[in-house]
Amino acid sequence: MGQKKQNQLSRRGLLAGAGAVAIGGAGLASTLGAGSAVAAPGPGAPQPTAFGPVTIRTGDPRYENLVRGNNFRFVGRPDEIRVVGSTDQVVRAVSDAVRSGRRVAVRSGGHCFESFTADPAVRVLLELSPMDAVGYDVGRRAFAVQPGATLARVYRTLLSGWGVTIPAGGCPEVGTGGHIAGGGYGPLSRRYGSVVDHLWGVEVVVVNRDGTARAVVATRAPDDPHQDLWWAHTGGGGGNFGVVTRYWLRSPDATGTDPSRLLPASPREMLEDLVVWAWDDRMTEQAFTGLLRNFGTWHERNSAPGSPHAGLYAVLIPAHKKAGTFMMVTQTDADIPNADDLVTDFVSAVTTGTGVNPVVNTRRTLPWLHATTWPGLGEPGTVFDRRYKIKAGYLRRSFTDAQLSAIYRNLTNSTGGSRSGMVLVGYGGQVRTVPAGATAIAQRDVVMKAVYQTIWTDEADDAANLAWVRNLYRDVYAATGGVPVSGEVSDGSFINYPDTDLADPAWNTSGVAWHTLYYKDNYPRLQQVKARWDPRNVFHHALAIEPA
Ligand SMILES: Cc1cc2nc3c(=O)[nH]c(=O)nc-3n(C[C@H](O)[C@H](O)[C@H](O)COP(=O)(O)OP(=O)(O)OC[C@H]3O[C@@H](n4cnc5c(N)ncnc54)[C@H](O)[C@@H]3O)c2cc1C
Repeated sequence: MGQKKQNQLSRRGLLAGAGAVAIGGAGLASTLGAGSAVAAPGPGAPQPTAFGPVTIRTGDPRYENLVRGNNFRFVGRPDEIRVVGSTDQVVRAVSDAVRSGRRVAVRSGGHCFESFTADPAVRVLLELSPMDAVGYDVGRRAFAVQPGATLARVYRTLLSGWGVTIPAGGCPEVGTGGHIAGGGYGPLSRRYGSVVDHLWGVEVVVVNRDGTARAVVATRAPDDPHQDLWWAHTGGGGGNFGVVTRYWLRSPDATGTDPSRLLPASPREMLEDLVVWAWDDRMTEQAFTGLLRNFGTWHERNSAPGSPHAGLYAVLIPAHKKAGTFMMVTQTDADIPNADDLVTDFVSAVTTGTGVNPVVNTRRTLPWLHATTWPGLGEPGTVFDRRYKIKAGYLRRSFTDAQLSAIYRNLTNSTGGSRSGMVLVGYGGQVRTVPAGATAIAQRDVVMKAVYQTIWTDEADDAANLAWVRNLYRDVYAATGGVPVSGEVSDGSFINYPDTDLADPAWNTSGVAWHTLYYKDNYPRLQQVKARWDPRNVFHHALAIEPA
């Protein structure tokens, strides 16, 4: 898009300077304003051609600008970057790649943690950022979102046009292309579920067995013959089945034709609470593990669907001791009854019995859009400092005592850096109402996500940082072969936080396959969808679904 800002000065960004990251522009295509309608753009229908296609090869001054994604560890060297502006252009680009036998990868927001779009074997990179329109599709009675739209663009357009929103990620620069297909979630998920619980349909460019590419529309309608393709995009992960060129969003229980009632209402204001603790002598193992245990116990007890606490979203960010401090950010809709008391009770539940007082404890209300779309929010590091490795796991309950000790040990050791640490993210609530097989997200009976991360600047520090975060993870999951095997406490991991170590026998000694950790019992069905819709296995990457 060319106008993304690498703003490093957000409040959370500054605090992130102490070692924390919260994970939890206009393109040339037009954004449709309030009340405007998108003609139902079925396959073959005319597409807007305001942009492209543009083909950029090595040597072109634009090449180095476009080849890089969010994680500077991975920079591909494709022969060409095809920058596309419409579904027809995607069909042509995919056809050309298949015809010439070149491996293709697709990038929308570029926020992949791993090298999926930057693999050296990728020869053609499809860049979808100009396809960023967001609007209301009267014909389909749903909001149409193109994959290049960032979450900030979606939130801003849905709010300003119709006063609605989606429960997607807390990082405004993430692209919807990968985010929705991977089962995205965010600050409103405890209240409204995963974003895919509001996914009505998807347009995907797929490749037939004979190598021809075509656009297909698949919806959640039970009588849709393509429903399996829709299902695969409710958490199956990007880069597996084809190229998503459009998502349509409408809540499952929405009725009528008034667009402002077809998705959750966007909150008016958010109440935000920030607590910062110092890593000083008082932060003993007992105090530190007490904070984490309390955070987990609260989520164990207060994550039932419809609970009065489901509107509260909290992120605890225990940074390595070298950061000097660590923090917790709590958000709730300021218009929820007793919002202030809910937050006070929560903060007190987390701190109780630990004997440590925060060095910062502030609260304020902010318009929801500002609280959600501040540029740079949640981005790892800065533009100078953006090499990272992130690992993850779902939690059904608080960590065990042995796990908490492992976390303390690793967050106070000599090998971690000031930008190493963890993020514990509140989840559960409404996401738990959906059966495990109804969407491709198999982990529904969970209450938190745990993120393990380290961020650094220089390539020379790769090995040390990778070793630190891998050892932390292996220690936390020591009882289950170094990975979060589904059981009483853990429930595998999240494909939007992909970690290729889960497929590496050196780091996964559990005997449980990587795909079981991500997809559990949904994997065989995903393999069938893959075999039907991508029989030539055109779309693949290091953690791709293998055809049945
Ligand atoms: C700073 C940061 C914050 C994040 N915060 C959150 C969060 O709050 N909640 C959350 O759930 N996740 C979060 N994530 C994870 C994020 O959802 C995933 O990384 C997501 O896949 C990114 O999508 P993208 O389009 O930006 O990335 P890309 O790198 O463009 O794509 C990611 C994957 O999806 C594929 N893909 C992309 N576009 C398409 C398409 N149009 N059709 C088919 N496949 C496609 C790619 O090939 C690749 O495999 C965060 C990631 C980062 C880096």
